[in-house]
Amino acid sequence: MTALILPRPVLNEGRFASIPVFTDDRLFEQTGVRIAFTTREGGVSTGAYDSLNLGSHVDDDLSLVEQNRVLLIEALAPELAGESRGLDEVLVAPKQVHGDQALTVETAADVDGVQAEAAQGADAIIVAEKGIGALLCFADCVPVIAVLPTGRFAVIHAGWRGVENQITAKTLSLMADQETHVSGVPASDLIAGTNIYIGSYIHRECFETSPDVHDQFTGKFGESCSFDESHIDLGMALRTQLMRVGVDPDRIADLDVCTVCNNDRFFSFRAQDGIAGRHGAFAIRL
Ligand SMILES: [Zn+2]
Repeated sequence: MTALILPRPVLNEGRFASIPVFTDDRLFEQTGVRIAFTTREGGVSTGAYDSLNLGSHVDDDLSLVEQNRVLLIEALAPELAGESRGLDEVLVAPKQVHGDQALTVETAADVDGVQAEAAQGADAIIVAEKGIGALLCFADCVPVIAVLPTGRFAVIHAGWRGVENQITAKTLSLMADQETHVSGVPASDLIAGTNIYIGSYIHRECFETSPDVHDQFTGKFGESCSFDESHIDLGMALRTQLMRVGVDPDRIADLDVCTVCNNDRFFSFRAQDGIAGRHGAFAIRL
């Protein structure tokens, strides 16, 4: 497969059935990769989970979470409607453990094995196959979607631990190596042409940390990620690690919205005192 040149990443507002998302329509038109960052709107959950809670590990009714996930797939990937495949066969949503492990769906035959591993814990899902979606869930942590010029993509959960352990840079290097193996295109060329999308997350003015965490971040990523002595800029730390592995800064699109300050639109663990639903970062290639 030859590498394409992707359009510059943008996050435009879109609405699919009842579900408003931030997406990149031009990316979809060119590659068939549909990415989406969801908000709280468009689902069936109530209370702290009102309404599109996609997280299954919170204290919401699991049947409602499943309904919300079905609504998401039906809205974003209507091409899959009418197929006999169940949700487990088309959607990988790992148990997130703040680690640095990525799992890969290379072909449809991998889905069962990846589902079993994902249930044990993983924080990034790489997908090369068409028609298989990846969903990760967030309420202040940084949601990242990376799309290689060949259409291979990853959805990544980067909390402060995930930014610190550099899961995003590690996943990007891994998926570029995988694609080099398949396509022969050098990994450095693939990474330079990769689009990075960052959804809403807790911004620097709201992300108060201990002195230890603050010093870990400035030690690894430089003083530019320090907002003041007790606040860290996770977005800047993420940007620094991505540029170090060869990402083009013009190919990073950040929604630039703080979850804590915008708790009416997004779930926020801190703003909701730990009792919150989860919005999603989702991608699928159609
Ligand atoms: Zn804020």
